[in-house]
Amino acid sequence: MIRRVLTFAVLAALLVAATVWLADRPGTVTIRWEGWRVDTTVPVLVLAVLALLAAIHLMLRLGASLFGGPGRFFAGRRARRTRDGYRALSDGMAALAVGDARQARALARRADRLLADSSLTGLLSAQTADPAEARDRYARLTERPETAFLGHKGLTDLALRTGDDAAALEHARHAWAAGGPAEGLAATLFALQAGAGLWDEAAATLDEARRRRAMSGADLLHRRALVALERSARAERDGRSADALEQALAARKADPTLTAAAVRAAALLHRAGKARKATAILSDAWEAAPHPDLIAALLALAPMETPLERVKRIEKLVRLNPDAAAGHAALAEAALAARLWGQARTHLDRAVDLRPGPGLFILLARLEREERQDESAAQAWLSRVPTAPAEPAWTCRACGKPTDSWAVQCPSCRAVDSLTWA
Ligand SMILES: [Zn+2]
Repeated sequence: MIRRVLTFAVLAALLVAATVWLADRPGTVTIRWEGWRVDTTVPVLVLAVLALLAAIHLMLRLGASLFGGPGRFFAGRRARRTRDGYRALSDGMAALAVGDARQARALARRADRLLADSSLTGLLSAQTADPAEARDRYARLTERPETAFLGHKGLTDLALRTGDDAAALEHARHAWAAGGPAEGLAATLFALQAGAGLWDEAAATLDEARRRRAMSGADLLHRRALVALERSARAERDGRSADALEQALAARKADPTLTAAAVRAAALLHRAGKARKATAILSDAWEAAPHPDLIAALLALAPMETPLERVKRIEKLVRLNPDAAAGHAALAEAALAARLWGQARTHLDRAVDLRPGPGLFILLARLEREERQDESAAQAWLSRVPTAPAEPAWTCRACGKPTDSWAVQCPSCRAVDSLTWA
């Protein structure tokens, strides 16, 4: 702004000086041309020449904007091609995202043709090509530092799809080292490292993910809990009980909803003679996430107790989390064993309201038989068993198979952290 004002001031001063200079020299000019004769003064001639130059300049600019110069014509065409190319590229990515592979492939070819830069279109082309060609294209992407991340990430996904975990781990490591937007990659790399039993490497990945902010806080803590749980098991195998307990408690602290951590910590505490602390941990865990495994762990703490003592202990749990069906079911079973019929019926009814299942119908049949010797009422309950909704179980998200107890790896497909209670 200041520069423009200064330029204007200088130009104005020069113009005034020139005008004064011309006015001081009022000479005359005579132009003769083909029988024409023009008599004029120098200032008028100078003004006329300036006006003519300005007119020519204006006409040239007008002509250029109307018809465009040859350079501009080609530049415009290139810009249009680039724009169309980017459009094809982004449309192709969108088609890929919604799973329209045919459309994505057509758009990839179009983007390839329009955009001269194959490092841009390589990713889309690789994702739409058949696996062998895709591997080729991804490999080419790994050669340039700018696209190495995308190439290795693509090769990781390809290897995962073909079940080659070793190759996937190798490429995931490279992609991780290349940096880039690593949000999904951190979880993939962690799962591959953990699956290969490389828990220390997996723990280092979590530290790096935290540094790069490549994983959300809750996801990070949950995985830290898995690492600690694994370290606890390792310490226990090696006979280091203090370490085993410390790591189990660390796992529990990192993820209070991880049932396996509370169960493990309680078992180790119990073995160390700290039954009260074990009970406290199981109760806290039950309050955070009421899981039947916690009740089983609690009962295991006192295998010799009387049925009445058992009822008392489970009552405390039910009070901590009154909407958990598993609590009412366990309390009803304990009450049946203690022959407290009224209490058994109350909690069976409550549990059926919350979540009906074959186990509850069998307990209700038992109640009808033991309290009232009513065989027909018992049979009525039992007839509902085959059509009852299935009991919840640890089920693998990856392969869909159920399994008896929680483990960090699915026993069927070896997927890491894939078991959910459903
Ligand atoms: Zn599985």
